[in-house]
Amino acid sequence: MSNFDKLFSFGYPSYTKDPELYYNCIKNSHPRYRAEIFDIYFSDPYRYKFNGVDHIYGDVMGTPLPEAHIKSLLKIQKEFGIEVSLTFNETYPNRELVEDIPTLKGFVAHIGKYYEMGVRSCTISHVHMMATGLLQREFPEMRWKNTVNHIITTPQQVVDYHTLGYNVINLDRSLNRNMDMLKAMQPLRKKYPDLILSLLVTEGCMPSCPFKVEHDTMGGKNPDWSYWQHHGNMTCKVWRHSMNNEMPRAGTEMIWGDLDTFNEYRGMVDYFKFSGRNMSLPDNTYDQKFVWSNIAHIKGQKWQADNGNLNGAIESGTPVAVADYFEQVVTTNPGIISNFQPLRYCKTSHPTTLDKVAEIDKETIWATGKGRALNHVLKNCKNECWDCHACERTFGAPDVDSLIEVNRDVSILQGHANHFKGIKISHE
Ligand code: SF4
Repeated sequence: MSNFDKLFSFGYPSYTKDPELYYNCIKNSHPRYRAEIFDIYFSDPYRYKFNGVDHIYGDVMGTPLPEAHIKSLLKIQKEFGIEVSLTFNETYPNRELVEDIPTLKGFVAHIGKYYEMGVRSCTISHVHMMATGLLQREFPEMRWKNTVNHIITTPQQVVDYHTLGYNVINLDRSLNRNMDMLKAMQPLRKKYPDLILSLLVTEGCMPSCPFKVEHDTMGGKNPDWSYWQHHGNMTCKVWRHSMNNEMPRAGTEMIWGDLDTFNEYRGMVDYFKFSGRNMSLPDNTYDQKFVWSNIAHIKGQKWQADNGNLNGAIESGTPVAVADYFEQVVTTNPGIISNFQPLRYCKTSHPTTLDKVAEIDKETIWATGKGRALNHVLKNCKNECWDCHACERTFGAPDVDSLIEVNRDVSILQGHANHFKGIKISHE
């Protein structure tokens, strides 16, 4: 067993048309790439009727999977031993889930269907449901995970949620910028040896975004509705494409500017969680493999991959580094670790290529003295940007105290905001 086994949790790219695309990419990947996966998470929301009204409990991302994809994931679990994880992560408290017996029975049957099929990992956001102990009794071999949307930021919270029956605690992404608190979590691992700590290392949302709770609730409650075509036009779309988006302060994405930084975080959690359920694999991926590559999109990096597809870059001679599995990244030619991203793909015939790492890294801000200094600050800056501005000063952007103020001019807001401009409301 390697130190890198089961180190990463990946979201299933839910907008992929044909499940064989993902299955083949996994099958074609290096066995070590597969061994490094902790689990692959997906959702299948529970739909039910209560008081004559249709309801749903499950998924803030609005990415339910068709049955063929679920079968394919189970095939991956069986053939390659990669755990798949059923996800219910919306935090709106559906009271009837616990107190209405037919609704509760239906939910237990919904999970039971997966248990029968061999699923042994499940995210449950419904804390009252966990408090009943019912699920733990019905499905004794299930590994229970809380959701990252519980915003767990302190050791006491970890203990409280663990005591409720959660085996895996998904820590809040704010801890990516709060090493003091990650250090304070460490005694827990001795006291609770079964506890598994996970850290979300990719997220584009602004830290503690004031819109997040409402966005997540709307997404979960309206699975056939697009936030981005409505309310999203008033929120991060407004600042996402400006220069601010290049800076770490616009998200909580992990910056591992060097191997030491990676190792510091590695020593404090059991695995790293990557988002990715909003992705899709295109039809040309049947004969491709997943790799780690540092041409991927990451803040401050010059080259962008074409939705994860490396073939164009490789064939056009663009400098690109490709590792068949993560351990190669850190042992062969370690550079800026977080410039590498998983779930990139290329033809199976393309070999590991790590001789261009330094050349690529040199084009990113993280290889400069200023970038290295920012990498150090980010470990513990706690996202108090209004009083810091180190990101702006590194990237040469104007200081802003809050991203909310960027382009916050109603005359240039688009889409849904235009809808409100046309509404006349009398207020005598
Ligand atoms: S607190 Fe400073 S270093 Fe941290 S994200 Fe904000 S501006 Fe960047």
